[in-house]
Amino acid sequence: MVAAIVPVLRQKAAAFRRGGFLLFAVLLCSAYVVPVFADEAKPTEPSGQEREEVLRDFVLANVEFTLLHEIGHALIHQFPIPLFGREEDAADQMATTFMILRHNTDIDPTAMNKLLMVSVEWLSEWEDEARAPGGNAHAFWDSHSLAIQRFYNVNCLLFGANPDELSFLLDTEMLPAERGFDCEQSYSQAFEANLWLLKSFARSKASLVPYNGIVVEYEATRNPRHEMVRRWLIESGMVQAVASRATEFFAWPQPVRLFFDNCPGSAEAYYNRNVSEIVVCYELLDVFLEKSEIFLSRSAVAVCANAGLRRLYGENFGCGS
Ligand SMILES: [Zn+2]
Repeated sequence: MVAAIVPVLRQKAAAFRRGGFLLFAVLLCSAYVVPVFADEAKPTEPSGQEREEVLRDFVLANVEFTLLHEIGHALIHQFPIPLFGREEDAADQMATTFMILRHNTDIDPTAMNKLLMVSVEWLSEWEDEARAPGGNAHAFWDSHSLAIQRFYNVNCLLFGANPDELSFLLDTEMLPAERGFDCEQSYSQAFEANLWLLKSFARSKASLVPYNGIVVEYEATRNPRHEMVRRWLIESGMVQAVASRATEFFAWPQPVRLFFDNCPGSAEAYYNRNVSEIVVCYELLDVFLEKSEIFLSRSAVAVCANAGLRRLYGENFGCGS
């Protein structure tokens, strides 16, 4: 499961708004803020089509991570994959490295943005939990790592895969040096695990037995915002591409149904091992959209003054060179 079921969704959604603002306040005040902005023109927030593209890219990156995390669960349950540690951590490791390898981040620097968008979302979730009504909402007993740990874990593997390109992240609040020094080794281990996975359970081209695969289905939406995101998913081709690649790589013992559904009262995604089904709630996608909207409305100056965000969105926000 990527996002735990929240006790009261509306309460959580309200917390997301406050958390998003705090996130960018934190980033603005972080150690790697650089005074690059003093002699330049005031940045402008993207509008119209450009704004929609920024929103869409953030949502799609986080949906992609979600899908790969749930496919990781499906792999763990359908194949005899040994685990030392928690399944949720393994699914996160698989999702992060699948995403890095899928986009060849070592040769396509722009693809690294997708992973940074994922880690930023986890940091925002952490801040939301800390500000939830009633005090500390962190579930220390949970099977998932804390959102702040998931934030550092994604950054670490991403940095480990691209230490030269992402050297500006090291020794910042994005990746403290004490953690960063081990990240190349961490990525190397994760990469080897992926090679083992493919070698052990790959689909054989010589097999005469028809293989199963991942089939994508969309339930009709009941909300215009959900419909907009559903349209982005279909038009981008990302979901089908992820499903097709997972189908092509692995000799799935059972077919997997990947289903986008309405889940009033919960914003989650999960793999149901009993029926071999991945469910992604439109409500979770709406949380991603809400966070990206907060980002656009609050952070124009922060983007241009922050080395990491400037790299991600400087062109969209007119930060200049
Ligand atoms: Zn999970």
